[in-house]
Amino acid sequence: MATVRPNVMGRKIISAGASAQIILENIALPAQSAKVRILKKEIDACAEVEKLDEAQIVIAGGRGLKTAENFNILNAIAAELGGAVGASRAAVDAGWKPKNHQVGQSGVTVKPKLYMACGISGAVQHVVGMENSDIIIAVNKDGSAPIFNVCKYGIVGDLHQILPKVLAAIKDSKK
Ligand SMILES: Cc1cc2nc3c(=O)[nH]c(=O)nc-3n(C[C@H](O)[C@H](O)[C@H](O)COP(=O)(O)OP(=O)(O)OC[C@H]3O[C@@H](n4cnc5c(N)ncnc54)[C@H](O)[C@@H]3O)c2cc1C
Repeated sequence: MATVRPNVMGRKIISAGASAQIILENIALPAQSAKVRILKKEIDACAEVEKLDEAQIVIAGGRGLKTAENFNILNAIAAELGGAVGASRAAVDAGWKPKNHQVGQSGVTVKPKLYMACGISGAVQHVVGMENSDIIIAVNKDGSAPIFNVCKYGIVGDLHQILPKVLAAIKDSKK
């Protein structure tokens, strides 16, 4: 049996005439032979909003956000665009976002149409989780940050000045 994480591989377009043989095996698994028992199920908080790994737009923040409150601007941009909010491990470790928002090697792999990385340096462990996004936009005050090697559009500057302008421009475009 083989499993892969969502978005690690691109989906193929199903060809109309394709067929496959389905073999159904009758396997008896007596309950007493199970080594694991499910005691209770809990709904992931992220599943109630848009699931990160299925979102077509991801607005992600990193250590450059500095505080949990500063994620509000990302929440607002994501809400305007109908997307989800992601985070780097540094932001998750700081307690600014729950673990289920973490993008990267030890988090979720995403492949949205748009991935916006704000205050994220572009460490390889983060990049493996988002580099297959269709369009990547990076906002970082350090013009030599590695994230600029993987983005299509880069904005060098202070995110606290840039993101409110991005939000205002999105709202304006809807008028
Ligand atoms: C085994 C292992 C697994 C890992 N798994 C993951 C993973 O799944 N996901 C993940 O993300 N990381 C993972 N990491 C951690 C990873 O190596 C990095 O430490 C982490 O991605 C850094 O997060 P960051 O980019 O937010 O922080 P930093 O690297 O500190 O970057 C912060 C960036 O913010 C910019 N900045 C600061 N202030 C501003 C401002 N006002 N305006 C604009 N820009 C600003 C800075 O210039 C900087 O580039 C893993 C590490 C290991 C060892």
